[in-house]
Amino acid sequence: MTKKTKNLEYYASLFCQVKRGQISGSKYKEYSPYKPIFLLSIIELIENQQISENKINIRGSEYVELKEIFKRYQSILGGEFKYKKYAFHQPFENLINDKNKDTGEQFWHLKLKQESPKIEEIKDAEGRNRIKTEAKLKQLVEYGRFDDELWEILQDTQSRNYLVNVLMDTFFSDETNSQIDDTLNTFDLDAQKQNQEVTEPKNSDKQYSKRKYVVRDSLFRRSIIHIYEYQCAVCRLNLNIKPVDIRSYINIVDAAHIKPLSISYNNQLSNGISLCKNHHWAFDNGCFGIDDKNYSIVVSNKFSEECLTTVESLKIIPMKSYHGQ
Ligand SMILES: [Zn+2]
Repeated sequence: MTKKTKNLEYYASLFCQVKRGQISGSKYKEYSPYKPIFLLSIIELIENQQISENKINIRGSEYVELKEIFKRYQSILGGEFKYKKYAFHQPFENLINDKNKDTGEQFWHLKLKQESPKIEEIKDAEGRNRIKTEAKLKQLVEYGRFDDELWEILQDTQSRNYLVNVLMDTFFSDETNSQIDDTLNTFDLDAQKQNQEVTEPKNSDKQYSKRKYVVRDSLFRRSIIHIYEYQCAVCRLNLNIKPVDIRSYINIVDAAHIKPLSISYNNQLSNGISLCKNHHWAFDNGCFGIDDKNYSIVVSNKFSEECLTTVESLKIIPMKSYHGQ
């Protein structure tokens, strides 16, 4: 086997193949969501700049933060597992067992303390290789970390969004829309609370800066593009690809906010629109807007455009012709 390049696709594929335990006798045969939630939580930690190096130190503030984010996501996305005791230490340890099937390489690593036994010598009461409690984790482990290549990839916003969408679409795709609405509301209430806090003078402090919930954005996107049937609301382009080794499709359309989130704080689905990359760019740069009374397209007169081809079948529909639609 040739050695695979450790790029975004490589890690997306490993993320969506993480092995998950199943609760025996559980009503709906649900699989444990802990690993996907753990990965989403680390991405959120990076998004909110609460971690600056590739290390979740057991004694560091990033560990405490990560645990908080994990708890929150477990209570929102945990399905049957949402009522269970928070099992943060499980994915922290178990992710070391998820490996590339060709090379046997893992993407999550544990650095044990010097005095700890080797990882394969650590057994639980039933004799399995496991760190069974958080106390044990704290006793034995110094820190957990990703592959350095993955850490680099996660510094890029678009790559983070991509991996969040892959995780959400692979593991949490069967919520009903009403559940998604509830979830979005939970985050909105939180955001409102934080905005109030931001207006107080002492809160130039970093901890009060507006928090970003990566899962929330992903749920918003999924609902919006589903409502618009995976088409661009302007040109109707609908382009899906299914990358090798990745369970879910990725789509060319983005979910944009009609009134910018930074001004309106309106995260409701009625403030969303599905746009292809071209029209998203044009929208963000003011080439057109949406009339909020009848949702029609209002094209600006402050740009020029040319569609130079004379080949009829290759003709691009100019932005200006969408005015009023
Ligand atoms: Zn379009």
